[in-house]
Amino acid sequence: MRRCGLVLMVVIGLCGGAVAQGAPKFRALAFYSEKVERDHVDFAHAALKFYADAAKRDGFELVTTMNWDDLNAENLKQYQLVVWLDDFPATQAQRTAFEQYMKGGGGWLGFHIAAYNDEGTKWPWFVSFLGGGVFEGNNWPPLPATLVVEARNHAVTKGLPESFVAPANEWYSWNPSPRANTEVKVLLSLAASNYPLGFKDTLTGGDVPVVWTNTRYRMLYLNMGHGDRIFTDAVQNKLLEQAMVWVGTKR
Ligand code: ZN
Repeated sequence: MRRCGLVLMVVIGLCGGAVAQGAPKFRALAFYSEKVERDHVDFAHAALKFYADAAKRDGFELVTTMNWDDLNAENLKQYQLVVWLDDFPATQAQRTAFEQYMKGGGGWLGFHIAAYNDEGTKWPWFVSFLGGGVFEGNNWPPLPATLVVEARNHAVTKGLPESFVAPANEWYSWNPSPRANTEVKVLLSLAASNYPLGFKDTLTGGDVPVVWTNTRYRMLYLNMGHGDRIFTDAVQNKLLEQAMVWVGTKR
């Protein structure tokens, strides 16, 4: 993914190919890191390619950065949403800027490790922002899993079947489940038929939301994001594309 100048993309429409005519429907700033777990970097690289193509199809603009200090109030004014592909902010300044951005109506699309939090995270607002879920466990190795599409009439799940088998991923469980928060809307979850899921580390059962939104914010979290196989399924790709467009265009 090349980093493209804002002006160049809008005026000339050149950044790895033609973009939709006219002003973009929304502008997204995607953050990622390359000094994190290799499987997460692989996902980020695949996501940047997938969403660069989606930007052309859907008429939005995607700017990418590995500099997490770009999470600052002045810079964020340019964007309708930020995307965290394989990491999360570490400094207080970055965290505060993000918190203010979201409280002011900003958008967020987070994948996989983006929502990871434990006793070492020390960012209570972020946990409440997610709906209250603290990381509990995961399956290992990464495995495909059957996902139940719970919300069939949501823009993010439009056209999806009642359930489908998602490509191999490291699936996280949460305690408490985000579903316990009445302001959280769960869109997809792990089907009970998956359990036990894993070999070295196993998810043994229970309610495991995979995609959800905290309706107090313009945000969506998707647990997908481990490895280079995430974008290999047409059904899931539809979900991942619609997720970006939904957050980007939601007002
Ligand atoms: Zn992972």
